[in-house]
Amino acid sequence: MTSFEVGDFVWAKMTGYPYWPAKVVEPDKDVKKPSKKVEMYFIRFYGTGDFAWTKADLIHKYDENKEKYSLGSKRSGFLDAVKSIEHAVERREKGLPDTSDEEEEESEPESEGSDDQPLAKKAKSEQGSSMETAATPPAKKRRKVAKKSLPTREESTPTTEQRNLTTDSRLSPDTTADADSTTNIVPKDIIPTDKSIGFLGLGIMGVPMALNLVKAGHEVTVWNRSQARCTPLVEAGAKQGTSPADVVQHCDIIFSCVSDANAVRDLVIGNTGVLQGISAGKGYIEMSTVDSDTIKEISEAITMRGGRFLEAPVSGNKKSAEQGKLVILAAGDRSLYMDAYSCFEALGKKTFFLGELGSGGNTKLIVNMLMGSFMASLAEGLSLAEKAGVDQYTLLDVLNLSDIACPLVKTKGAAILEGHFPASFPLKHQQKDMRLSLQMGEELEQPLHVAGAANELYKRTKAIGFGDRDMSCVYRAVNA
Ligand code: NAP
Repeated sequence: MTSFEVGDFVWAKMTGYPYWPAKVVEPDKDVKKPSKKVEMYFIRFYGTGDFAWTKADLIHKYDENKEKYSLGSKRSGFLDAVKSIEHAVERREKGLPDTSDEEEEESEPESEGSDDQPLAKKAKSEQGSSMETAATPPAKKRRKVAKKSLPTREESTPTTEQRNLTTDSRLSPDTTADADSTTNIVPKDIIPTDKSIGFLGLGIMGVPMALNLVKAGHEVTVWNRSQARCTPLVEAGAKQGTSPADVVQHCDIIFSCVSDANAVRDLVIGNTGVLQGISAGKGYIEMSTVDSDTIKEISEAITMRGGRFLEAPVSGNKKSAEQGKLVILAAGDRSLYMDAYSCFEALGKKTFFLGELGSGGNTKLIVNMLMGSFMASLAEGLSLAEKAGVDQYTLLDVLNLSDIACPLVKTKGAAILEGHFPASFPLKHQQKDMRLSLQMGEELEQPLHVAGAANELYKRTKAIGFGDRDMSCVYRAVNA
């Protein structure tokens, strides 16, 4: 049997489907290899940005088999994939890097998307649905680059509704987008507080949130573990702190929005952390979604040093963060809530003050538990439709006109059909929220059968390498 090396151009195939232009690549470190004893290679398929462990006997050298396999399909997805690999081969011959590695892995199809996103679903439907283990490298490895001209869906002529659906998904690909989230941002009439504001954690949510604080006229100092993420903020007029402690020392009110409880603790009690800068009267607002024990722990640490503490997790997504339309669930120190009010105005469309510490986090977890369960159920419905020969686009049209129509069905359903899962709400965070809500149910002896089952699907999706993709990628586990 032929053996291959990383970088080899090949034809690779899923059982029962045509050979497809592909490349042998290195799997990301958190992508597990299937436990099968046969020789397998990790393959990236051109034109789709999709990956799969593939048996060696279903892989053939590209050049030697060009004539044999290049007529495998007349569909434009296949022809575009051939064009992509030819381009890559040509570049290699000239000693240039294969730019399609970045273009196809890049999956940042934000709203104003053109018609040119790689379409994993498409390749999958042509190549088969029996991927051994599909996985895509974490988003952090991708760079933003120009997008390729590739088709976006099946070549059968779409109905008008289908075209609208595609367009909608591009305009608003995010999970919990408000129904009106695709409309332009209405300028808010905000009088910014004269208190200096710090913002720690510039991830998917942190960047647009901090930008909105700056745009509303606040004096903002930012810090992020990976410094490069501070650049758009500095360009917009924010200052950059050298550490969390440095930001806290220079600011009156400090927001934090990081991934999980470990990150929250690192930020507060770590080396050059928040606690080293906290002094009487300073306010610390935790916007990350974490468990109530963590919130209690950092609240105590901050208030023991004379600081004030507020939890303020947010309901929304990248899009609503960009548009200043988050729903903010604040609880804790009311004086801090009042002092930070102009910031909440800049960040959200509605801020709730929910009283005692813990109420904000609990509310947020329940919201996300429902969202996660519903998302998993939607993925199952669409998968079942495929197996039953029910047209998935038609099903989505029906759902969008039914009593369960909502932004999640509209945007995530479209993302699933497009096979395109850019991280708006990373699946690993959705799984964290499922776990935390189940933990809450456990402590309160509340049975949570549905959420428990959905959590298993998110765990599985994470295990096959999709943790950094959007939560709608749960479809990959459901539809395996
Ligand atoms: P994200 O894009 O994954 O960003 C995570 C942020 O946390 C990055 O700034 C990261 O820094 C930082 N971080 C991680 N570990 C750290 C550590 N040990 N020390 C310091 N910083 C650390 O996450 P996100 O989507 O912005 O979400 C942030 C929080 O908001 C999460 O709790 C999430 O559940 C919640 N949330 C998210 C959404 C959404 O739609 N995305 C919606 C509502 C709520 P680096 O850049 O250096 O990695």
